[in-house]
Amino acid sequence: MKTALIFNIQKFCVHDGPGIRTTLFFKGCPLHCLWCHNPESQAFAKQILWTQEKCTGCGLCARACPQQAVHVGRRGVTTDCEQCVLCEACIDACINNAREIAGTEYTVSQLLAEIEKDRPFYDQSRGGVTLSGGEVMSQIDFVAELAQACKNRGISVAVDTCGYAPFSSFEKIMDHVDLFLYDLKIMDTGLHLRYTGKDNAVILDNLQKLAQNNARINLRVPLIEGVNADDRNIRDMIDFVKTIHLEAVNLLPYHDIGKGKYAKLGMRYDEGQMLPPLEQRMNEIKTMFEKANFNVKIGG
Ligand code: SF4
Ligand code: SF4
Repeated sequence: MKTALIFNIQKFCVHDGPGIRTTLFFKGCPLHCLWCHNPESQAFAKQILWTQEKCTGCGLCARACPQQAVHVGRRGVTTDCEQCVLCEACIDACINNAREIAGTEYTVSQLLAEIEKDRPFYDQSRGGVTLSGGEVMSQIDFVAELAQACKNRGISVAVDTCGYAPFSSFEKIMDHVDLFLYDLKIMDTGLHLRYTGKDNAVILDNLQKLAQNNARINLRVPLIEGVNADDRNIRDMIDFVKTIHLEAVNLLPYHDIGKGKYAKLGMRYDEGQMLPPLEQRMNEIKTMFEKANFNVKIGG
């Protein structure tokens, strides 16, 4: 039976599409954006997180590990990922809940059961389910089955995507998806590669093709001072989308609330050059899009 790796199911979301929504976060992403606030979304496999503030250094996790993959030392608790077989014995052994796992396998029916619990809220608010990540399009066969099942039950589906996938993957879900929340980050190819790890050609191409296929699209633009909030990037972006029908443009100011998760995963957070744009700058960018006749909102 097909399964997908999900790292979070968030209920009562009001920023991931219209109405009240249940947002499913798929694990694994081909991009590694420098500002990513969900670093546990990037790897395609389950991962162990360790919270220093909850840990007493008791060593129960290390004793429970059948692989001798856990080391408790002066620098805290480290896990040898090469040795770890993700059996979760160390998580069960930790009475302080300092260890947790990111990523749970779900079948389509299990996710539908979760989604159905919130149906009254969708009906009242014209909401639905949002498939997010990570990158949804990276688990496309599962996503196509889930999106079709939702559609068959009359549940509205939105897909939040970075756009980095073959267009044939979009073709598999277009008929079942009511709204694409499509990220556009940086127009310069070299800078896109530098800050996300991938070039943007396929992302731009897919956006145009989705629009040509009459998909409903909300453009989502994360804005980071020092990375992509400059006039040139915004002008190039507007120039690119001006012939595309967009339902809305959402301008999303950078925040660092995911910073603590990098430490839990043993990852480095390189925040040196990143800042949220000032309110005045956000309003200037909003005006630039509005002058090009887009319906613009600051926030999701
Ligand atoms: S998940 Fe299992 S193998 Fe991995 S560190 Fe924990 S106890 Fe060891
Ligand atoms: S069992 Fe929990 S509290 Fe004890 S050392 Fe391991 S992570 Fe820390």
